[in-house]
Amino acid sequence: MSIDSRYETVIGLEIHTQLATRSKIFCGCPNRFGSAPNTQICPVCAAFPGVLPVLNQRVLDMAIMTGLALKGEIRARNEFSRKNYFYPDLPAGYQISQFELPIVEHGELMIEPEGASRKRIGITRAHMEVDAGKSLHEGIQGASWVDLNRTGTPLLEIVTEPDLRSAAETGAFLKKLRSLVRYLGVCDGNMEEGSFRCDANVSVRRLGESRLGTRAEIKNLNSIRNVMRAIDYEVERQIDLVEAGERVIQETRLWDANQNQTRSMRGKEEAHDYRYFPEPDLPPVVITAERIEAIRGSMPELPDAKLLRFQSEYGLGEYDAGVLTADREMAEYFELAVGAACPADPKAVANWVTVELLGRLNREGMEIGQSPVAGEALGRLTRMIHEGVISGKIAKTVFGHMWEGGGDPQKIVEEKGLVQVSDSGAIEAEVDRILAAHGDKVEQYRAGKVQLLGFFVGEVMKATRGKANPGVVNGLLKGKLEA
Ligand code: ADP
Ligand code: ZN
Ligand code: MG
Repeated sequence: MSIDSRYETVIGLEIHTQLATRSKIFCGCPNRFGSAPNTQICPVCAAFPGVLPVLNQRVLDMAIMTGLALKGEIRARNEFSRKNYFYPDLPAGYQISQFELPIVEHGELMIEPEGASRKRIGITRAHMEVDAGKSLHEGIQGASWVDLNRTGTPLLEIVTEPDLRSAAETGAFLKKLRSLVRYLGVCDGNMEEGSFRCDANVSVRRLGESRLGTRAEIKNLNSIRNVMRAIDYEVERQIDLVEAGERVIQETRLWDANQNQTRSMRGKEEAHDYRYFPEPDLPPVVITAERIEAIRGSMPELPDAKLLRFQSEYGLGEYDAGVLTADREMAEYFELAVGAACPADPKAVANWVTVELLGRLNREGMEIGQSPVAGEALGRLTRMIHEGVISGKIAKTVFGHMWEGGGDPQKIVEEKGLVQVSDSGAIEAEVDRILAAHGDKVEQYRAGKVQLLGFFVGEVMKATRGKANPGVVNGLLKGKLEA
């Protein structure tokens, strides 16, 4: 994608993370996706007159935890506000959100875009709010249906500073943030199902200009790939407009993944259009220092810290450590494998996980959690190589059996008779046979064509069906050839 180098792209994101609580934010209904329409609702969800909301304390804990992970300030006394607007799937006629006094402000997230250096992205704020229901238009003639199941789902809206400068940086940011909320267990990060939704605000300006250009807000982005494609499209559209002497208008645009373009949806509301005011049905939220410290103490090790530890504790390079800490399940898998592989080198384990296992998972479109080979089993396999029970080559065959049918590598090796032959007596017989059968090549070797060693090793391995210990084979061959 070649973007006109006289322009600079500016991007700020609003990310709605659906908090993975068991019940909804202001009532006891289950917070669950995919049930039959209007089966997960109560009078609070349906906004009957006279009902009162009660804040779910787990929502508050998760918001605090996310704020701490984003290195933000937690406002000890924050408050909810009413954001008024009409929508058929919003029976109250307002959304309970936070406006002037959000729970989290002034945070940051460091990103490592591919091929570029680390960069700090400012987090303006994060605030708690309630989700609306859903209007359904498909398959109905002349009418729409309203499903209120999603009403009351707790959201934490995370807003960034306009610090992002390209689609690539935006992709890196979203991956990092998604990994973080998954580590924390506050959100499943599923963009397709809409539990991690991103709106991208995009503008362009001439290089060197300090004022921000007029932005368009893009919605309907259900994957990181689509966010990046939409930004690329939008930047081109805006530069074309400016070049043609026209102006970008502030509006909300929808990404159409099929047409590969954004199109105008509506003019952009300003904050005052919503007539925000403090929510009279909820008291201000007061958070004690003890509560914040208790939550800090209960937080898992976060990706950045884990990345450094994997490098220092296991001697891994930054790239491997990055792959293995990109998500929490992957990191846990690796550590289980290392534990079972001991005393084998953790770097060998990292290699098996990133090359053999991840290669296979990617080919089959599977996640680490679906791996038919358990972490401990892969660790034991690595240990068997380390102890010389099997060669690396045989280990790949064993790995194939483990992938197909699960099971213990030790058992598979015994049942299939794959134990490595290290007894030099048995191997020597094969070595002698091969040397006798290739007298011409032996002459050539002795005349200086030493690269033929590989040929002899290959022949012996073939004759022993891969079971001969390659170290022993090498030693015996050299000894005899150079005698
Ligand atoms: P809202 O979209 O609800 O009106 P804000 O005014 O707080 O909310 O802005 C939302 C997002 O838009 C923030 O992420 C901010 O960084 C980003 N943003 C604001 N101005 C620009 C701009 N000119 N270009 C790109 N992003 C912008
Ligand atoms: Zn309810
Ligand atoms: Mg917005």
